[in-house]
Amino acid sequence: MLPWQFPCLSQEKKREAVLNDLTWTETQIRRLKELGADVENISIDFSTPARRNKVFQELEKKQVKAKKAILSDFLSQGKQSHLESLRETLCQALHQQGFTQVTTPTIITKTALGKMTIDEDHPLFHQVYWINQKLCLRPMLAPNLYSLMLDFSRLNHRPIRFFEIGSCFRKESDGARHNSEFTMLNLVEMGLPGENRHDRLKELGAIVAEASGLDDYRFEREDSKIYGTTLDIVAGPENIEVASGALGPHPLDGAWGITDTWVGMGFGLERLLMTSSGDTTIGKWGKSLSYLNGISLRI
Ligand code: ATP
Ligand code: MG
Repeated sequence: MLPWQFPCLSQEKKREAVLNDLTWTETQIRRLKELGADVENISIDFSTPARRNKVFQELEKKQVKAKKAILSDFLSQGKQSHLESLRETLCQALHQQGFTQVTTPTIITKTALGKMTIDEDHPLFHQVYWINQKLCLRPMLAPNLYSLMLDFSRLNHRPIRFFEIGSCFRKESDGARHNSEFTMLNLVEMGLPGENRHDRLKELGAIVAEASGLDDYRFEREDSKIYGTTLDIVAGPENIEVASGALGPHPLDGAWGITDTWVGMGFGLERLLMTSSGDTTIGKWGKSLSYLNGISLRI
């Protein structure tokens, strides 16, 4: 039995309800959730399955009407979607910190992935969408940003600050917190005094987290022999990862010819939207033909 069904009934009555098929069906729950109904707080006490189905139909109709009004309002006012407005907010926040936005290709080479040590033996390799034997859709922004770091390192000024916001692609098995196409923000700051790097990475992480409206978040540090120190940001009561950061000098720098110190962090915009709104499933926050701005289009 789903533990939250019949919040007001006694244990015995609950058991009876389940035995007599008087709880919502899985399909009904899915549909009501999709329509944004607060399923967990609806107290139901049906006498027959037919009565339950009738209540469901009435509730569905009411929710559809409400969602239609919200969608009409959204479309008629020429508003921006959550994803686009977060993108804009983050661009502004980073411009204020002196970061320049770059835009690099979505299609990258197998060689570039190899320089990230993502080869046949790496788990991420099998999540990559291959276009042909040499090209794929980027699973991360880092290879392109590493390439720019080398070009920018020939300049004299420091620090050098830049970021990209763009689509990344991964074959994923867990749909609740993963999209196969998602939007990554990756920022890089090069040429800092070595001893300040860790604090600076935290500072930048906090700037992005707070600009995204996230207040319940924590940093988690891990030290790995292969990837050096990583600093993740996790959010909400379920500690959902919203970002992963790294520091250079880094074990991968040699392959890219990088000798500068640097800090970098990659955020998933859909994860930021999901966690800052208190949601634990990512579906309606991403690029979709089923939702617009979190509003179900199955109405
Ligand atoms: P996870 O362990 O949650 O799958 P990850 O550690 O593989 O994530 P990273 O490579 O660190 O992900 O990517 C940086 C950020 O991009 C993550 O912290 C997350 O916010 C986001 N992200 C990664 N994969 C996805 C995905 N498939 N869908 C949505 N966001 C993602
Ligand atoms: Mg990570």
